[in-house]
Amino acid sequence: MKVVFLGTGASAGVPKLGCGCASCGSRPARGRRRRRSSLLVTSCSGVSVLIDTAPELREQVLRLGIVTVDALLLTHGHPDHILGFYDFHTWMKRMARRVPVIADSKTIGVITTVFGVGGLPAVDLIPLGALEEVSGSQVFDIGDVRAMPMSVPHGPKEASVAYMLEERGSGERLGYVTDCSVVPAEVMRQLEGVRLLVLGVVKKGPDECHLSLERVTDIVRQLRPKRTILTHMSHEITGSDVKGLGLRNVRAAEDGLRIKV
Ligand SMILES: [Zn+2]
Ligand SMILES: [Zn+2]
Ligand SMILES: [Zn+2]
Repeated sequence: MKVVFLGTGASAGVPKLGCGCASCGSRPARGRRRRRSSLLVTSCSGVSVLIDTAPELREQVLRLGIVTVDALLLTHGHPDHILGFYDFHTWMKRMARRVPVIADSKTIGVITTVFGVGGLPAVDLIPLGALEEVSGSQVFDIGDVRAMPMSVPHGPKEASVAYMLEERGSGERLGYVTDCSVVPAEVMRQLEGVRLLVLGVVKKGPDECHLSLERVTDIVRQLRPKRTILTHMSHEITGSDVKGLGLRNVRAAEDGLRIKV
């Protein structure tokens, strides 16, 4: 399995509009730019699954030369994760594809309200079951990629869907957990043994709706994945902050980063 990070920024992206901090500055270094977060996973047989449609989807797809995808998984309906859906739909229509879009029913409601006015002929919207049934009880096979959605809290009132993706031939698994305030014990159990763990972290210190670097440290120490990559980072977090954690095999992602799982 291969992954490519289309974007690695939190909801405001980096540079953040109107911010003059050292990370954003007036002319931030190329490598420091973070488009909003999204990941493309491709199996050895060429089946590709996109997670989230960031506002910069069109630019990300053109820049990275992505030809098509076989399914879209949405984590939740916040603007930084869905605003590229219009471009996604136009792209699939152009490719004469009808692809599955898996999301919880609240997110599907947002998609149909915001983008579905004229109908959505290029996608099959597949709502997940009730949130309490999401973790571990439903699996979706997209070619040789098996997707298992898992519900995680996103602050006190909302939820987000984390995904575990498994390449059925090799058994290699990766976990993608973003916009999550705490990883529940049952999700930790599901994630045991993943080769690659991708975690969304917004700030260094505690945050009501997202993981902090401190929580990331606890998760990595408990799960010990072969590799952990942080994404969905605000201007507050630099690559050296992540190195400073002193954890082996943990790094910050960069836009365009390609990894073999
Ligand atoms: Zn977000
Ligand atoms: Zn800034
Ligand atoms: Zn969110």
